[in-house]
Amino acid sequence: MRAGLPDEQQGTPFLPGPVFAGPFHLQGEVASSDWRYTRYGNPTWARYEAALAELEGGEVVVFASGMAAAAALLLTGLEPGAAVAMDHGCYLGVRTLAEQHLKPRGIDVRLAPPAELAEAVKGAQMLWMESPSNPKLEVYDLAELAAAAHAAGAVCVMDNTTAGPLFQKALDLGADYAMTSATKHLSGHSDLVLGYVATRDLERAERLRTWRTQAGSVPGPFEVWLAHRSLATLALRLERGSANARALAELLSGRDDVTAVRYPGLPSDAGHEVARRQMRGFGTVLAFDVGDRGRAEHFLSTCELVTEASSFGGVLTTAERRERWGGDDVTEGFIRFSAGCEETADLLADVAGALDAA
Ligand code: PLP
Repeated sequence: MRAGLPDEQQGTPFLPGPVFAGPFHLQGEVASSDWRYTRYGNPTWARYEAALAELEGGEVVVFASGMAAAAALLLTGLEPGAAVAMDHGCYLGVRTLAEQHLKPRGIDVRLAPPAELAEAVKGAQMLWMESPSNPKLEVYDLAELAAAAHAAGAVCVMDNTTAGPLFQKALDLGADYAMTSATKHLSGHSDLVLGYVATRDLERAERLRTWRTQAGSVPGPFEVWLAHRSLATLALRLERGSANARALAELLSGRDDVTAVRYPGLPSDAGHEVARRQMRGFGTVLAFDVGDRGRAEHFLSTCELVTEASSFGGVLTTAERRERWGGDDVTEGFIRFSAGCEETADLLADVAGALDAA
């Protein structure tokens, strides 16, 4: 809760406000100041990075969004002629970036189901994993695959956005890089986009920092400050959100008008045993199928405590019919649901009522 806060000093705020600056005063030698020009670095980022470093157990580089963090990893880690093995169910934006910007640069993008990733990584330079995956919530053994990547001489990236650093310690599980969209739980209030990469390798962190400066994929100090402020409540928000997700998953699995309920915390879930080993909490996101498009749309418009919106990890419960975006292998009635911090009983009653009416 106090991560990244400065030492206590009489008459100063707990968390100093955002430092708004393009250039900083810089007289004489460039090296005479830590702060020169915000694209190179900003004290507000440094505080937030220090806080995240405590959560992740590694060096952190913050970016303008989760996709900016993903782009930094993919574009600095792969040369023309290289290959990357990717979970075929990983976030659509990452797959699209790989298809549209890596392939044309002569990089072999090998999309494979989790069970085939250990084979696909042979001869590749990078393995890209995402468990639980968004939106299908597939869970697989991250440590086992990280070991396969390292045996093949590849670096291992985990997109840890769905679980986040409190519920899944990606670096401890063997990732060389943990990538997270802080747009979700980390900031938690659905009011900004932000992302970061954590790594234990200082040289790799420096490469990413240099990329950030050169590509200009820099976050605004105000967004970073807001996200830092939200960190103090992260554990509380996750506690309530994951309790709500679990209660909803139980409710939904007991109904015969809902199928394919996925939540890693359900003992009946296909990923539960692996999730129990590698996760410290099962998260706030669940998925299920209500039959068809019409019923899904009716359900979403009838709920009063569930806002129809994309993304997840906010204090307010949100859900969407994921197929509307295209690009994911999901059915028309598939709903991705992000449990927020409402009263559990209210949320359960709202969802059950909307399903009854749908
Ligand atoms: N990775 C995952 C798993 C995501 O769900 C998202 C966004 O939905 C991203 C990466 C990209 O993050 P951002 O939207 O912050 O760029």
